[in-house]
Amino acid sequence: MESAAGPSQAPLSSVPARLSLARRLSPLVLALSGACLQPGADPQVPAPVEAPEVGEAVLPAERKGQELVACGQLFHVGVPVVLWYDQGGYDAYSTALHFDAPASGRAVEDGELRYQPGRRVDGRPGEYQVTPGSKDLEALQGAVDLFVVHYDACGCSRQCFKILHDRRCLSVQFMLDVDGTVYQTLDLRERAWHAAKANTRSVGVEIANFGARRVGDEAGLAALEELHPEDEQGRFVEFPAWMEPLDIRTPGFRARPRHPERIEGPMQGGTYAQYDFTAEQYASLARLNAALCRVLPRIEPDAPRDASGRVLDRVLDDATYESFSGVVGHHHVSAAKQDPGPAFDWEGHLASVRALLGAP
Ligand SMILES: [Zn+2]
Repeated sequence: MESAAGPSQAPLSSVPARLSLARRLSPLVLALSGACLQPGADPQVPAPVEAPEVGEAVLPAERKGQELVACGQLFHVGVPVVLWYDQGGYDAYSTALHFDAPASGRAVEDGELRYQPGRRVDGRPGEYQVTPGSKDLEALQGAVDLFVVHYDACGCSRQCFKILHDRRCLSVQFMLDVDGTVYQTLDLRERAWHAAKANTRSVGVEIANFGARRVGDEAGLAALEELHPEDEQGRFVEFPAWMEPLDIRTPGFRARPRHPERIEGPMQGGTYAQYDFTAEQYASLARLNAALCRVLPRIEPDAPRDASGRVLDRVLDDATYESFSGVVGHHHVSAAKQDPGPAFDWEGHLASVRALLGAP
């Protein structure tokens, strides 16, 4: 039902002219591959192509399951991306409950939208920067200049979608599971509901992680410890039995914080403790972020910094918020938020993104 609103019916027919077919079929490549032909090989067989770069447009026929969708077009990310219309995907276009109704507690009614189609100009009803269903990538590139990083406080993407979609009537364009699998739930042209005032100008990602607790909150810290016991290889995430099934796509995956110890750090003037994200998440997030910087080039590969150059651990003042373009934490947007938390390795992440972009 929801696919009429999304591009799953006729999504990917419009392909940008800047596809680098010329590069991939260059005489040099053909000559090189020709030299490697085995005896008897059919010279008509197309030469092996170079892997596309992050953020490069690819044809629907070339989809490898490692692409994101923006304005109905596919762009290479280079790590597994499960789209909302794929089997096992999470569809934020759907106005029905994704899971069975809960035995208790509130569930959102069927029929409610979890996002706003297109990108409306704030405060001007009926006026759009990106019209619903638009294939105008340039318009989207003009509208979006922030990538908002969250932790989901749920631990895994399946549980995150259950809370967002079925319980809170919210949405986010991407979820990143503990094994590094990226889920895209909406075309990037849609205004997802994840970061209040930043929704119109941003795309967001919810990274699976049980989140931070205030130092001094002994019950909260004890619960965090219980979720991260130790075995002979160090800390790992022990999901509560009631969360099963987790539907983590890598069979038998055991999630381990990349940093072995609990990390404490300042956030919004308090001190918080958190276990790190997994190495698989950092690797995928860097590629996703780099692809977004290419597809939506107003997103700079940097985060807001204080006078000494440190990434800010507080909400941005209004003037900084208005003028900044790049990667932000939810905590930069809202004083009530701590995510992605003190464990998030901003400098390592941004360095990886810049390396993928070939930027200094
Ligand atoms: Zn958040």
